[in-house]
This record gives sequence, structure tokens and C-alpha cells, in this order.
Amino acid sequence: MGISPQTRFGNKRLIGLIGQPVKHSISPDIHNAAFNYMNLDYFYIAFDVKERALGLAVKGLKALGALGFNVTIPYKQKVVKFLDKLVDDAKVLKTVNTVVIEKDRMIGYNTDVLGIMNTLVPYKDVISGCEALILGAGGGASAAALALARFGCNHITFANRTLSRARRLANFLRQKIKISAEGIGLSASNLSAIAKTCGIVINATPIGMWPNNNNSLLKKEQIRSGSIIMDMVYNPSETALLREAKLAGAICVSGLDMLVFQAAESFKLWTSLEPPIEVMKEVALEAIGRFV
Ligand code: NAP
Repeated sequence: MGISPQTRFGNKRLIGLIGQPVKHSISPDIHNAAFNYMNLDYFYIAFDVKERALGLAVKGLKALGALGFNVTIPYKQKVVKFLDKLVDDAKVLKTVNTVVIEKDRMIGYNTDVLGIMNTLVPYKDVISGCEALILGAGGGASAAALALARFGCNHITFANRTLSRARRLANFLRQKIKISAEGIGLSASNLSAIAKTCGIVINATPIGMWPNNNNSLLKKEQIRSGSIIMDMVYNPSETALLREAKLAGAICVSGLDMLVFQAAESFKLWTSLEPPIEVMKEVALEAIGRFV
């Protein structure tokens, strides 16, 4: 006999995060603070899931009566085959970071795109018509590309460790959203040649993520003064890439803003309520402090 979908953890309803690694994640801090602030009986836990157990973990969350879950590196695309339906940006990108479990159906959403757009709104006029370099070609990279395309970016280059994946993503987006895009390898000479010509560079790889705080794919000499450098890595909040960008005179955008904005959109999907953004931002900053 299965467990009733109404099963509660204590009196609280479960919301999960699945990824690997998740030790660096502060999403539990942000969501639990928001639930407490709004007096909601929800409870958010991060689960470190091995790839071979991904399907079991997804089915397990459903069986345990979870309200939904977030998906993070490296499963945003791998999780799709276990879901019942994709909507909105998740359907365009075939990439999911938020799942809502509704009447036994698992619906996949992508709140990273809105998270990036809300973060980059102050720079949208600079992005319009510019060339962009995205480091990485996974779920975060595809969300960044869709956000940049919506702000009128002219051309996107994906530089990725696995060249075939960069080319595949560029090709997919050329067909799907009619943006001019290409894929290249992640070598230092490739990056030197292209980074200086771009109005915006977004890191969508885990390079520089805690505990490897000193790693950066670009050095200050490779960064154009006045360009926008955004790091999706949010832990630490000022990554080595952002430190190099500051030295080069670039505009620095931390992944922490994106983290809060995408979390706020996930909160709306799970609760149908307006998220307490200021509380979420405050807790995010506080939570990052414990890793120093
Ligand atoms: P993903 O779909 O698994 O993609 C990971 C990407 O990083 C791939 O392009 C992968 O290259 C590359 N990569 C992984 N390890 C690498 C290494 N050692 N050297 C060079 N490249 C490497 O993951 P994702 O969801 O896009 O996440 C990427 C990063 O963005 C993570 O750090 C994640 O925490 C961050 N992120 C932050 C937010 C936020 O709200 N701030 C939101 C989304 C993502 P291959 O194709 O060669 O494997």
C-alpha cells in the first residue's frame, strides 16, 4: 500500500531540492525563512542524490506527498523524463528547476529565466543589440540565453568544456528561439579572443563555487572595462571571477540576486502567494556568511 499523498512531516508539508552537490546550497535557508515569515506549514530540505537514484528520488518525493521540489546541478535536463508535463520556459528549453506536484502529476517549470531577467533589468538597454559570452552549456546557460534573447541580445557564444554540448545548445536555440548563436570550446585562447568583444559575459559553470573560491575562467586582462560580468555561482557572493571583473572596471552582477529572484518565482508557484522578497534577500546574505 502506498503512502497517502496527504502525508505530512510533523505538521508540515515537504518541499525538496535535488542535486549533487547540495552542501553549498542556501535555498533551504531562503525558503524556510519565507515560509516561517508567511506562517506557512511548509518545510524545505536539500537532498544530495546520485544520478542512478534520480528517478527513485523524484518518485519518492511524489510518494511522500511533497508539494514540489527544486532541481539543481546536474539534473535540470536529466529530470525531464520523469515528469508528466513541462510548461512555459521549461517547455521551450526542456530544462526544469522547479516542480509542482499537483493532483499526482509532476509539472516542470523553469524559474531561472525570470530570475536572470529580474536580475538584469537594470542593464537591459546595454544588453539590447550586444554580443554575449556564456560560459557553460547546461541548464543555467540555456536559461541565460533565453533571458538575453528576450532583452534583444544580438549574438550568443557558448564556451563549454564539452564542445559538442555547446554546439548542440547553440543549434537548438537558433532553431527554437531564432537567435544567432555558436558553440566553442572552453580553452583560454578561445576566451581571450572573444570575451573582450562582448557587452556581457555570464558564468554558468560551477567554476569558483565554494570551496574552490579562487578559481576563475577569466582574468582581468581578458575582461572589457564597462562590460557586464554576471556569475551564476552565488556561493561565495563575490567570486574570483567577479573580483577579476572589478579590477578590469566591469559591472559586476552576483548570482545571489538571481538565486533570490528564481526562488521568489518558485515560491509563487508552490504557494500562489506573493513572496517576501526582502526577507529572502536578507536571509540569503546571512546564510552565505556561514561559509566564510
Ligand atoms: P548543469 O546543467 O549541470 O551544467 C553545468 C555546466 O557547467 C556544463 O556546461 C558543464 O560542462 C559545466 N561544468 C561543470 N563542471 C565543470 C568543470 N569542472 N569545468 C568546466 N565546466 C564545468 O548545471 P547548471 O544548473 O547549469 O548550473 C551551473 C552553475 O550555475 C552551478 O554552479 C549552479 O549552482 C549555478 N546556478 C546558479 C543559479 C542561481 O540562482 N544563482 C541558478 C542556476 C545555476 P560539461 O557540459 O562539459 O559537463
